[in-house]
Amino acid sequence: MHKKIALIRGDGIGPEIVSSAVRVLDKIASVFNHDFTFVEAPMGGNAIDTFGEPLPQSTIDTCLSSDAVLLGAVGGKKWDSLPGVLRPESGLLGIRKAMKVYSNIRPAVLYPSLKNRSPLRDDIAEKGFDLVIVRELTGGIYFGERGYRKGKFGREAFDTECYSEIEIERIVRSAFEIALTRSGKVTSIDKANVLESSRLWRYVFHEVAQDYPNVSTEDMLVDNAAMQLAKNPAQFDVIVTSNMFGDILSDLSSALTGSIGLLPSASLGDSTVGIYEPVHGSAPDLSPNTANPLGTILSAAMMLQYSFDMVSEADSVKSAVQQTLNRGFRTADIFSDGNILCSTSDITDKILQFIK
Ligand code: NAD
Repeated sequence: MHKKIALIRGDGIGPEIVSSAVRVLDKIASVFNHDFTFVEAPMGGNAIDTFGEPLPQSTIDTCLSSDAVLLGAVGGKKWDSLPGVLRPESGLLGIRKAMKVYSNIRPAVLYPSLKNRSPLRDDIAEKGFDLVIVRELTGGIYFGERGYRKGKFGREAFDTECYSEIEIERIVRSAFEIALTRSGKVTSIDKANVLESSRLWRYVFHEVAQDYPNVSTEDMLVDNAAMQLAKNPAQFDVIVTSNMFGDILSDLSSALTGSIGLLPSASLGDSTVGIYEPVHGSAPDLSPNTANPLGTILSAAMMLQYSFDMVSEADSVKSAVQQTLNRGFRTADIFSDGNILCSTSDITDKILQFIK
């Protein structure tokens, strides 16, 4: 199968980790007889330096004409003093908007071989966990009406949480579709005891659930969900929630896995063309060739699964990552006594060996 993949390498560790993922995709192409073409799409600080803007129109055009986008990370001190719209990170919002992606899918897995890296208590980490957070990405309080005004007691500021039933329905439906490929349970997280927008969320969630009789459902208040993630994350399979709750809970769940460098993500809309990126930033504090590339490599695996419907190929990448970890190969962020310390390129070499 032929696929065109846009590469946004970005800044800091971005180019290194994207190169690792490209090596893995090349290996998949040769083992499974596919043809992947890679097209460069500059974005972030490097694009500011070259084109004077973080997201050139040519990058948007390249991404829109590709089958999927693989993104490293953007940003760094050099560009921190620029005004908001000119900062590297504004490119992230711009490309998500241009590609109309509204569903952010973030798996978080505590691998058996990394239990000792998790901040969870031993008896909780012992059970491991494998969950997916499906976060609404383009609505809610981050995009609602906002402003300043003069109130009775001086200056006031406000932000508004607003969800339409169409926005809720499409994100909930994508969570149910993912649950069908897993153990078949969706937990919807809201604050329906207080918020009107959450009550509509819960109502629509149960309406959509009627189309998925084989998936079990559960509602949970967000405050309880934070507690349950810390006390018993193994109880979750697929979690679906709003933009702000998802932002907070997905960072919590990523911290529980041992390193932010391990976590992939996918952002999808109505089409199969998605943006795939690790959840971390450009890590400017790291020395060259020391970053953990697994989050980006696992993002490439999500691309194979969700954009290209190449499930065996995605499984092959995930299995190679597990085998690499099981044999004790580790980058510095997940290294413990008795492991074999690897550079970014070394651990990528190991993963390639396990893809057969
Ligand atoms: P960060 O995620 O870059 O780093 C946080 C910590 O995690 C650092 O100690 C870093 O060394 C470590 N870390 C991150 N990725 C790692 C990896 N793959 N392997 C090993 N360790 C890793 O967050 P930050 O320090 O707050 O931000 C740095 C820059 O990245 C900023 O300019 C920020 O705006 C930008 N940023 C970009 C994105 C993105 O491109 N999606 C996301 C978050 C932050």
